[in-house]
Amino acid sequence: MASSILVVGEVGEGGLAPITKEMLGAARRLSADGSVGCALIGSGVEAHAQSAIAHGADEVFVVDDAALAEYNADTYLQAMLKVAEQASAPVILFGQTNLGRDLAPRLAFRLETGVIMDTIELAMEGGRLHGTRPCYGGNARAVHVVNADPQVATVRAKSQEPAIEDSSRQGQVTNVDAAIDQSAIRVKVTSRSGVSAEGVRLEDADVVVSGGRGLGGPENFDVIEELATVLGAAVGASRAVCDLEWRPVSDQVGLTGKVVSPTLYIAVAISGASQHMAGCSGSKNIVAINKDADANIFKASRFGIAEDYATIMKPLIEAVKQEKGA
Ligand SMILES: Cc1cc2nc3c(=O)[nH]c(=O)nc-3n(C[C@H](O)[C@H](O)[C@H](O)COP(=O)(O)OP(=O)(O)OC[C@H]3O[C@@H](n4cnc5c(N)ncnc54)[C@H](O)[C@@H]3O)c2cc1C
Repeated sequence: MASSILVVGEVGEGGLAPITKEMLGAARRLSADGSVGCALIGSGVEAHAQSAIAHGADEVFVVDDAALAEYNADTYLQAMLKVAEQASAPVILFGQTNLGRDLAPRLAFRLETGVIMDTIELAMEGGRLHGTRPCYGGNARAVHVVNADPQVATVRAKSQEPAIEDSSRQGQVTNVDAAIDQSAIRVKVTSRSGVSAEGVRLEDADVVVSGGRGLGGPENFDVIEELATVLGAAVGASRAVCDLEWRPVSDQVGLTGKVVSPTLYIAVAISGASQHMAGCSGSKNIVAINKDADANIFKASRFGIAEDYATIMKPLIEAVKQEKGA
């Protein structure tokens, strides 16, 4: 069965990744009565095929091979080319994740087509995918169309609503033999180093509290951490803060940091430079605290407090604690 939209799924420690569920939801809405395919590539991924069906896939293309246990562009590209051929979908969606950022342009190049990176809105018009993405550092939005097939796009996390899970949904599981050509593997992973993060992951968080250089020093991040704790939020930071080594680089939000799209983004003592906004402009609600009423951050904020953070944060934390009954 040919798919009208193929979602390239990802599996994490907790099962099917949230971004995959979101893309399946989007694909269902976009494909109208067409068939939605889902590619699952990796080792041991077949176990998640039913979950993909429950979240909206009609057919799951499984490439389950021990050689695919770790992401490697050379092996995954081979597998993806096979799945793309079998699914023959006119639209292929990847998450704007490490995998998607790397693999989507490679696949598009091999298939002699184009790719729309980092879309935050998707629409189908006359069989063409219209992908909206932020540009000019998040200050404007552009709608892109790929005039070749298949139309490839990556989708930003939390920009799409997942479909409601229905474990009674029926679908087809198709095993695809990638027959990996080992001689084509040019990248070898020689070692790995991880950054251990406590609490909610910045990219997945529904609420983010970020601090900027206006806090005056690393010790003043305690109010950011305290507010984040009572809200169950992740802590973010501006680049100025990370460059000063007040916070680790893994906390940086922005053009050269992480892109977040939480429901609530609280920016404390952050100016709102375009490069910072590139990382948080997809947030559903931005709340800014800045002592400069003319700060750029207020232009993008739903609510703003033009005050010294030092006078605002403690009462705000207390108010949230009371509200939450903590
Ligand atoms: C190529 C490039 C890439 C970049 N990538 C990124 C990126 O990924 N992420 C990023 O963040 N930046 C990035 N930048 C840097 C960006 O241009 C800004 O310099 C940076 O975001 C500024 O950080 P800030 O707002 O914390 O600091 P500042 O610009 O110093 O602003 C501090 C703010 O705090 C306010 N303030 C001061 N004291 C108080 C107080 N007591 N109470 C309340 N408010 C107070 C001030 O009014 C001011 O608005 C990049 C720049 C370049 C050139």
